[in-house]
Amino acid sequence: MTRAIGFNLQNFQSNLLSWYARHKRALPWRDNPALYRVWISEVMLQQTTVTAILPRFERFLLEFPDIQSLAKAKEDRVLAAWAGLGYYSRAKNLRLAAQEIVKKYGGRFPEDFDEILSLPGIGRYTAGAILSIAFQKPYPVLDGNVARFFSRIFAKNGDAPKFWALAEELLSHENPGDWNQALMELGETVCVPENPNCLQCPVKDFCQAFKKEAQNRFPAPKRNRPFVDMAWTVLWIEKNARILIWKRSEKERLLKSHWGLPESQCLKVNRGKLIKTAQHTITHHKISVDVRAAVAPERLPKEARWVSKKELSRFLISSLWKKCLPH
Ligand code: SF4
Repeated sequence: MTRAIGFNLQNFQSNLLSWYARHKRALPWRDNPALYRVWISEVMLQQTTVTAILPRFERFLLEFPDIQSLAKAKEDRVLAAWAGLGYYSRAKNLRLAAQEIVKKYGGRFPEDFDEILSLPGIGRYTAGAILSIAFQKPYPVLDGNVARFFSRIFAKNGDAPKFWALAEELLSHENPGDWNQALMELGETVCVPENPNCLQCPVKDFCQAFKKEAQNRFPAPKRNRPFVDMAWTVLWIEKNARILIWKRSEKERLLKSHWGLPESQCLKVNRGKLIKTAQHTITHHKISVDVRAAVAPERLPKEARWVSKKELSRFLISSLWKKCLPH
């Protein structure tokens, strides 16, 4: 019996690992856990569900099959391949990290924790997932699913440092890759946020929340960040069957350096009739977008560019822009 955690760790690990061996979902990065695939999948998984990733994962890999092709790719192409996954800074950072790996490490992914952590877009969770799954090194992971599971097992609320300490303590050193994936899999499929499926849970005998019938009280609900309402007016400018699009700056609050329709303040033109109003939410921003017709300016700023209607979908990749298209 381990005194700090209050139960037999070996039994706990063995229950969870054998459950994982029997019940794990067949996922493309599990069937072939090559390092590059693990890295891409873990970055995709950071804020997106498995269901949303599945149709896009292999497509992304077909276009960028290795670190070199990702490092050489234009940012627009990487963003286009990321379309539908949201949080586009992840795609930008993937490309920047690939460039750094080529420049600093000759194209070989580093195996040292601090070196991995210093790559753009990689935090402690992703570094731990890559090292444990692709290299079988004993590094823990902690994401929302794992934190919820720990909170219920110990019937305790806690903060990230406390849960990271637990993740270290419970980690299986013999099988860290499967262990970390088992924790995440259980959190995602059994110990779900609402009404966890405790009767199917392989570690219910260890679970304090289950014993106290307090599963839905742990973790304590977080106060949600309040929504920010935003109103944009964007311009639909058409000339000779071409549409004017705009490269947003790196300083924008949302959709930084994305191609989009020009916002009205970008161009000195008269606004015409309202074509449509679209509603869209990005993180905690609720955006109402008026799309207005306008005539082309005489001189185009460097951020503007004409594209054919066919090309639009290649440039306007956020679903916000798709809602703004007039037809
Ligand atoms: Fe989660 Fe229920 Fe299992 Fe406890 S018994 S870990 S609450 S699924």
